[in-house]
Amino acid sequence: AVNRTPLIAGNWKMNLDHLQSIAFVQKLAWSLKDARHDFDQVEVAVFPPFTDLRSVQTLIAADKLPLEFGGQDVSQHDSGAYTGEISGAFLRALECKYVIVGHSERRQYHAETDEVVAAKVSAARRNGLVPVLCVGETADDLEQHGPSAVPVAQLQAAIAGLPKTADLVVAYEPVWAIGSGTPATPEQAQTVCKALRTALEEALGQDAAASTRILYGGSVKAANIAGFMRQPDIDGALVGGASLDVAEFASIARYRQ
Ligand code: PEP
Repeated sequence: AVNRTPLIAGNWKMNLDHLQSIAFVQKLAWSLKDARHDFDQVEVAVFPPFTDLRSVQTLIAADKLPLEFGGQDVSQHDSGAYTGEISGAFLRALECKYVIVGHSERRQYHAETDEVVAAKVSAARRNGLVPVLCVGETADDLEQHGPSAVPVAQLQAAIAGLPKTADLVVAYEPVWAIGSGTPATPEQAQTVCKALRTALEEALGQDAAASTRILYGGSVKAANIAGFMRQPDIDGALVGGASLDVAEFASIARYRQ
């Protein structure tokens, strides 16, 4: 990933309450500092549950920790009668830089369609958040349509109408690899990430395609991260399970060492 700062992102899902989040972020910052992690070389971000964000924000600001953070989801609306939803404006007010949009668990358990995902991408951008847009095929999709068709179509649907200068991160997460312990091979992931970059170029132009980071996600661990990071179109990882273990997540972030 020439000229693109790698991003190692930890999606905590529904794990760690606000007290646990404080201890976790402190330990993470210490272990990266001990290892003299170069934060200019590799950006590290955590995605805690909404109820942790105020604690994480306060700690990161107070201790000037070089970590970024964001929400795991965002409402497509900015305010109003949407019980249980979280506005992008609220996330921005808590200094979130990023927000995950279209995670396969949202698509699967909350019936989020490509249309909803596109509206959430817009809501994120409208509120100054960088969307981390997740795309990926199920095992059935893979069998029926081959490796790239579904993730490329999901990307096209979510970014249609975005301006060419849109700041965006794409995460390719094959659903069959998430939480399964069986990641895609680096070569499989590269094939799809390359197709996603081509789709970015068609939709947003060459500059956007060259500057947008595309992450791989799905059973990433310290033992397999390096193979993904050697691929020319993979610029980081979105990590689920392994992001809940400080030592493991820190060594994923230190994949260069
Ligand atoms: C995820 O859900 O974003 C993910 C990549 O999970 P895991 O690393 O546990 O496969």
